[in-house]
Amino acid sequence: MEYISTRGKVSGVGFIDAILMGLADDGGLLVPARLPQLSEATLRQWQELRYQELALEIFSLFIGDEIPRDELKQLVDDSYATFRDEDVTPVRGLRDGLDVLELFHGPTFAFKDVALQFLGNLYRYVAAKTGSTIHILGATSGDTGASAIEGVRGKEGIRICILHPHGKISQVQELQMTTIDDANVLNLAIDGTFDDGQRIIKELFADVDFKHRYHLRAINSINIARILAQTVYYFYAYLQLAKRGQAGPVSFSVPTGNFGDIFAGYLAKRMGLPVDRLLLATNENNILARFVSEGAYQPGEFRGTHSPSMDIQVASNFERYLFYLYGEDAASVAALMEQFKQQGSLSIPADKLAAVQADFSAHAVGNQECLDTIARYHRETGYLLDPHTACGVAAADRIATASPAVALATAHPAKFDESIRLVGIEQAYPPQIADLFERPTHVELSPATADAIADRLKDFFEQKR
Ligand SMILES: *Cc1c(COP(=O)(O)O)cnc(C)c1O
Repeated sequence: MEYISTRGKVSGVGFIDAILMGLADDGGLLVPARLPQLSEATLRQWQELRYQELALEIFSLFIGDEIPRDELKQLVDDSYATFRDEDVTPVRGLRDGLDVLELFHGPTFAFKDVALQFLGNLYRYVAAKTGSTIHILGATSGDTGASAIEGVRGKEGIRICILHPHGKISQVQELQMTTIDDANVLNLAIDGTFDDGQRIIKELFADVDFKHRYHLRAINSINIARILAQTVYYFYAYLQLAKRGQAGPVSFSVPTGNFGDIFAGYLAKRMGLPVDRLLLATNENNILARFVSEGAYQPGEFRGTHSPSMDIQVASNFERYLFYLYGEDAASVAALMEQFKQQGSLSIPADKLAAVQADFSAHAVGNQECLDTIARYHRETGYLLDPHTACGVAAADRIATASPAVALATAHPAKFDESIRLVGIEQAYPPQIADLFERPTHVELSPATADAIADRLKDFFEQKR
C-alpha cells in the first residue's frame, strides 16, 4: 500500500515510511493512495472474528507485504494484550436505540491507547529492524500524552518528549504522564494551550533540518497509523450489532476534538462499512460543529470545558477530510489550506456543504448540558459517563437518526473526577488510578515557544544513556 500527501507533492511512500514521516514533507497529511473496498460478503466473514483477528485483517490491507503477516500478528497481539477487557472494545446497551462502544479498557483508560499501543510497538519494531534511534515529539490535550508514553516507556531505541498545557488538563491525566520515571521520557508543561503545543510541534516538524537531524517522529493523529488503527473498532462495533441480529446501517456519535476519531469512522464508511450518519459532538469549542452547519471553518476563542481532551480550536485532521470532500484533488486542498493560513479561516461553497451534511450532523454540547447528561444517565441507568462520552451521548439524544446509534465512550470517568464531583457523584477509582497519587512526579515547565522547546530537546536527544 502506498501513501500520498493531501497537498500533492509527496507520493509513493510505503507504510513504514509514512508512519515515520508523520507530517508529509510538503506540509500536508498522508493518506492511503487508494482505499481498500470491502464487500458485504467480506463483512459477513468477519463477523465471527475476535478483535485482534479483525485488526490483523484490516491492518494487512493498509500495510501490504511490508511487514510479514506473522510479525504483524505478533505486533497486534502484543498491543491488545494490555487491555483489561477480553473484547478489547466491548459494545454495551445504554438505552433503546443507543449503545456505547467502550474504548477505555487500555492502560491509560482512554481510547488513545487503541492506536498508541500499536504505534508504540510498531516504533519498537522499526527501531530494532533498522538499528536506528527514534525520537518522538508530541503535544497532548490530556490523553494522548499518557497513552503515547505508556506505549514506548522503557523501550530500547526510543526517546519521547510530550508537551502538555500547564494547568489545563485533569489531575489524573497529568499524573499518568508525570509519575513515569523511565529515562527515555521527558514531560514539558508549557505555559499555553493545547493549540500552542500543536503549533510548536508543527513548526518543529516543518523544520526539515531539525526533523532529520534528530529522526523526529510524530505520535499525534497527524500520524496515519493512528487513524488506521481507529477504523478497526468501527468495524468491530458494527459487526457486534450485526451478530445480535441488527440488520442494516448504524450511526456513530463521536466526541470530537482533533477530528481524528470521527475521520476514522468516515474512512470506514468510504471502505464500505454501512455507516448511516456520523454525529459530530463538540463541547463549547464548537468550530467543527459550526463547520457542519454553516460551511465556515473559523477558530474562535478558546474555552475551558469539562472535556479538556476536546478543548481544541484547530483540528489537524480536518485537512484529510477536505481531501476527500474535494474528490481527492490535492491542488484544491493546497489552495484551501493556503487560504486558511493567510486569512485564519476558510469556507466551502453550497454544493460542498451539502456533501458534508450528507454524511455528518453536529451538535455543540454546552458545559451544563454535559453535566446534566452525566447526571441523568447515572440516575436512570446507573451507567457513569465520562464528560467526553457524555458529549457524544448528548448529541445522540439530540439528533434523531433512522438507524440505531453507537456512541463512542472515549474515556473512563475516573480520569475526570473534577467534573464527576460537580454532578454530586462519588466514584471509586480503579486501583491503577488510585495508585498514581502516591508516586513522585517528573516534569519541567517551559515557555510556549518553538525555540525554547527546540533547545531543551537538543539536550534530551543528545544525552548519553
Ligand atoms: C482525544 C480525545 C477525544 C477527541 O478525539 P479526536 O480524535 O481528537 O477528535 C475525545 N475524547 C477523549 C477522551 C479524548 O482523549
